[in-house]
Amino acid sequence: MLTKRINSLSPSLTIAISTLAGELKAQGKDILSFSAGEPDFGTPQVIKEEAIKAINEGFTRYTPVPGIPELLEAIAAKLKRDNNLDYKPSQIIASNGAKHSLFNIMQALIEEGDEVIIPSPYWVTYPELVTYSGGKSVIIETQDSDGFKITPEQLKAAITPKTKMLILTSPSNPTGAVYTREELAALGKVLENTDIWVVSDEMYEKLIYDGTFTATASVSDDMYRRTITVNGLSKSVAMTGWRFGYLASANEELVAAMKKLQSQSTSNICSITQKAAIAGLDGRADADIEMMREAFKKRRDLAVALFNEDENLSVLSPAGAFYLFVNIKKVSNDSMQFCKDLLSEKGVAVVPGVGFGSEGYFRFSFASSEEQIKEGIARIRAFCKTIK
Ligand code: PMP
Ligand code: GLU
Repeated sequence: MLTKRINSLSPSLTIAISTLAGELKAQGKDILSFSAGEPDFGTPQVIKEEAIKAINEGFTRYTPVPGIPELLEAIAAKLKRDNNLDYKPSQIIASNGAKHSLFNIMQALIEEGDEVIIPSPYWVTYPELVTYSGGKSVIIETQDSDGFKITPEQLKAAITPKTKMLILTSPSNPTGAVYTREELAALGKVLENTDIWVVSDEMYEKLIYDGTFTATASVSDDMYRRTITVNGLSKSVAMTGWRFGYLASANEELVAAMKKLQSQSTSNICSITQKAAIAGLDGRADADIEMMREAFKKRRDLAVALFNEDENLSVLSPAGAFYLFVNIKKVSNDSMQFCKDLLSEKGVAVVPGVGFGSEGYFRFSFASSEEQIKEGIARIRAFCKTIK
């Protein structure tokens, strides 16, 4: 009955585990969940007020498919101010989360049999969207020993005549690794004289603890032309439920194709979200962003120290995002079983590394209170002792 394409799709593991943890908690079980890729803060007041105003003013109708002009202008201004990137409003599409932007891109560009290069560990959604679009994922593996970053040599070796796209995520979900400008430029050099697209997922741009963020499209004119920049507000201003993301590309033909797809699938994103998002983009929420970043940095330092005190576990201190990708190879080579047992025996939910393409790790989100982090890591360490 169902199509081959839908049967090939797996549900999101990160969402599945967060949902299961929520259900167990609702049944009254003592569960600590570090599985969700979601800030534990509320959306800043200034953003909420814009939404309330939009409702009261009756801004509740269809809008242009890619977004209202003032939103697209606010995105263009943000890309110029923060990233020194020149995009016209006509080169931008607002969508229902960055996930929807990624879906639009894959549907517009991936042809049956095309290869998409994805560094692992990767965010769970990328290979699924590639397969769903008829493409084939070509994985470049990285480990904690190489900082979870690919090298130009690895990229070169992965390219074939069928390569259509490279997906880069910096800061990374699940490792928090951040590429420097020099590293991105070196990867860009490998792509010169090819017609390979780069999708740069910059969702965690505002959550940087060490070093600085570099937008992939900003490293050279060549990278600007081939890169589709994807970003949103889910993480930076805690707007996961509002469903707002966007993409920007200098290629007008590509942007027009994705507007066409969105016009026939979801139309515009929520009109109220659009008004609210402007306040998340234009600097009015900057103090809130900084407050959250500082809180995450403290939690990162706490969690990294507690994990690295344990002889069975080790973790690199992530330069960005709010995840730790914890190495469990001394106690387990089956991260799925490890996470299932940890949840049933200690009531702690984390996501198995295998879901991100890397066995021997789990992902721990430190978007939780310091008390929860301390208690959760104590339980994980006690669990590791029992299975050693
Ligand atoms: N990219 C990355 C790397 C993510 O972790 C997520 C998860 N929230 C997304 C994109 C999608 O975010 P959203 O759809 O909420 O904008
Ligand atoms: N991106 C978040 C995560 O990695 C949210 C869940 C999802 O969209 O898969 O946990």
